[in-house]
Amino acid sequence: MSKSAPLDVAIIGGGFAGIGTAIRLKQKGITDFAIFERDTRVGGTWRDNTYPGAACDIPSRLYSYSFAPNPDWSHTYSGSAEILGYVESMVEEFGLRNHFRFGHTVTNLQFDEEAGLWTVTFDGRKPKVFARSVVVASGPLANASLPNIKGIDTYEGHKVHSAKWDHDYDFAGKKVAVVGTGASAVQIVPELVKQAESVKVFQRTAGWVLPRVNRRTNSVSKMLYRQFPVTESLARQAWFWGHESVALGVVWNTPLTRVVETVGKAHLRAQVKDPWLRRQLTPDFRAGCKRLLMTSDYYPALQKDNCKLITWPIATLSPKGIRTVEGIEHQFDCIVFATGFDVSKTGTPIPIVGRHGRVLSDEWSKGAYAYKSVAVSGYPNLYLTFGPNSGPGHSSALVYMEAQIDYITDAVRTVLDKNLTMLDVRRDVQDRYNADIQQRLESTTWNSGCQSWYLTEDGFNATMFPGFATQYAHQLRKLDLRDFVLASDATKLGNRPSERAAVS
Ligand SMILES: Cc1cc2nc3c(=O)[nH]c(=O)nc-3n(C[C@H](O)[C@H](O)[C@H](O)COP(=O)(O)OP(=O)(O)OC[C@H]3O[C@@H](n4cnc5c(N)ncnc54)[C@H](O)[C@@H]3O)c2cc1C
Repeated sequence: MSKSAPLDVAIIGGGFAGIGTAIRLKQKGITDFAIFERDTRVGGTWRDNTYPGAACDIPSRLYSYSFAPNPDWSHTYSGSAEILGYVESMVEEFGLRNHFRFGHTVTNLQFDEEAGLWTVTFDGRKPKVFARSVVVASGPLANASLPNIKGIDTYEGHKVHSAKWDHDYDFAGKKVAVVGTGASAVQIVPELVKQAESVKVFQRTAGWVLPRVNRRTNSVSKMLYRQFPVTESLARQAWFWGHESVALGVVWNTPLTRVVETVGKAHLRAQVKDPWLRRQLTPDFRAGCKRLLMTSDYYPALQKDNCKLITWPIATLSPKGIRTVEGIEHQFDCIVFATGFDVSKTGTPIPIVGRHGRVLSDEWSKGAYAYKSVAVSGYPNLYLTFGPNSGPGHSSALVYMEAQIDYITDAVRTVLDKNLTMLDVRRDVQDRYNADIQQRLESTTWNSGCQSWYLTEDGFNATMFPGFATQYAHQLRKLDLRDFVLASDATKLGNRPSERAAVS
């Protein structure tokens, strides 16, 4: 079988990151790329999370790309449908539709050192594709996961995961359980109590809940943003610096963390009068250690006559419902699992084989690491969006993504301009970077003792960036080629000492 001509770039995933990368590639004059998306539509997170109440916790002005401003956001914070509309509009505005290859699930990536090419393999019988560079934009929260609860398969009622909402199921008159009290659950519960006969919310840990005031954007503001784009840019800057200041209390365990906790406790006191319920809803860990929950609707919903908070741990699921450890069986027509995602903190989302047959999931078996979260030594010309230690605790994921995308597209441009077969980050540079990151993580709230999806079972934090968004973006502002091993002729690899060091 003859090989198809290699692409300049293969992008995996058609969410915000994949689309942002595609836009920046085009703006840098690179058009020979394809976006491989396993689904049949664009949108990633915002295509999949359509549960009632699904919304973003970050103001839309900041949860959008600076290179694709949207003067028409309807509210301060947007719901999932409006965000999806924004993503779709970028695809049209920047002419990306023809670059999409839908229904292509990438199952393997393998680097051919001699040719300086990645082989991209798909499920089914689709032909392989070859690419000089690969951008893995498959998303940190793309794979819904059911909890590992005993008896989950024995339950005979209806099961729904928050990320795969069943819009055909009528909740009216139904007895419903919600398992989980994280970011999705606190958005779902206020909507479900309006529809269902009863809702029982199963809480393992109470989270820190802060108020969220969502205002409609008036037509004058929209007109201003449209006519004078600088006003929108200023509004974005204001939100950006507001969130940066919050980092002082959320990222690090400082006296300002107490201020965040005071706001959370005051919110709880204002909205929940019953002291017993208040006690059940009071977190026992430092604010910021787990994701902060932003809602003014959750506590009132919990106190509706048809809603009840259950804090006894779940022992098992039974054919009719949920049995808690004190032996009570709660019967339900439907169980909603707001239990999050299969987040790969160890291993990789897709098997990736690099130089000399190295397997990235083996190297990451105890926890993922990368250089500045985007590149891994031994895996040349391959870049990650939302890679290890790029998680924001206090700001918009898109601010971090923009910085990654600019760095990545500069690297791709360099490979093409210099006709490189290999742009591989140096191992010593990567090791120094990660030693520093892990040391800085020690003083953060995430590493202050609570269990969260940010940490591996051994307590290794491969998820979050220990700093301000400004610092994260600053480190990625320039591609420094001294950090990399470059090769334009693969046959000479391994002959230079710096390269031998890089692969050892
Ligand atoms: C309910 C919810 C609320 C959130 N709220 C916020 C918030 O308030 N603020 C914030 O900053 N972030 C939030 N996030 C995080 C959010 O995931 C990111 O902000 C962002 O949308 C991630 O974009 P992405 O493109 O990296 O990943 P995704 O949007 O997940 O897109 C990845 C794409 O890759 C595709 N894909 C995956 N594997 C493969 C494969 N093997 N082959 C081909 N295609 C593949 C998927 O189908 C998907 O379309 C939220 C996430 C969720 C789930």
